[in-house]
Amino acid sequence: MKNTILCENNTLLSELGKSLVTGSLSDERVLAETGREPAIKILPNAHVIKIGGQSFIDRGRSAVFPLIEEIVENLGHHEMIIGSGGGTRARHAYSVGLDLGLPNGVLSVLGTFVSMQNARMINYLLANYGIPFIEPAQFGQLAHYLKERGAVVFFGMPPYTFWHKNPSVGRIPPFRTDTGTYLVSEVFGTKSMIFVKDEEGLYTADPKKDRNAKFIKKISVAELKAMDLQDVVVERSVLDLMENAQNRRSIRVINGLERGNLTRALNGEDVGTLIYAD
Ligand code: ADP
Ligand code: MG
Repeated sequence: MKNTILCENNTLLSELGKSLVTGSLSDERVLAETGREPAIKILPNAHVIKIGGQSFIDRGRSAVFPLIEEIVENLGHHEMIIGSGGGTRARHAYSVGLDLGLPNGVLSVLGTFVSMQNARMINYLLANYGIPFIEPAQFGQLAHYLKERGAVVFFGMPPYTFWHKNPSVGRIPPFRTDTGTYLVSEVFGTKSMIFVKDEEGLYTADPKKDRNAKFIKKISVAELKAMDLQDVVVERSVLDLMENAQNRRSIRVINGLERGNLTRALNGEDVGTLIYAD
């Protein structure tokens, strides 16, 4: 009743404002009205790059040093928001945590710290170029650092920690570093989302296990889901999130072990696999 009076007297409220103030946020019709204006692109010139944990950073110097060189070469040409994976150490932490009966939300905390270790390592390798490491609490400074230095490093794990949604099967946190980096790209409306891994992109099966796996150059999320592959190259949560994406409706997976691939992807060239939402 109070809300109705507020609306009738308050001409400052738009039609949408009136619906939201007086209506229920569980009402589908009210919610539908909130999607009329497209989300703005906050950092349309930036690229989000995820450096794989197991697929990349765990390989050490031979993989990481050339990629760092390539990132440095691109400073000043492309704005880069660099997220890190967790990799083998995160998997080990999950296995010990599972053995100890720890819940998903706690495993998520463990994974966060491992991806932070990797982000720190990438950060120290880029330190001499003034590239900062930022935690979620510092995302308010993200734009400033990006415009000043051309890149930032963050840990890829989304900060859900104890509030992490349970998976439908088992107890490994379903939203890990692919998802965390992807969501940064989605919310900031960046120019691209590039996953740097150790394979050319998506195949019909894990190429490390199946010699006959066929490379897929471009595929929609719907087609990919219909193929019902036993394993895929990115977290399945990313594919789910893409279906309702406002900004980030395509992702690219590239082989970062091949020198020049990251630069090609940053330049908008068709390298690796493109997965897009219809
Ligand atoms: P990251 O360390 O970046 O999180 P992951 O190791 O989790 O990377 O995932 C990338 C790996 O997924 C690749 O190295 C590849 O061996 C494997 N993989 C599984 N299924 C596929 C597939 N269908 N196509 C390509 N790679 C696949
Ligand atoms: Mg992974």
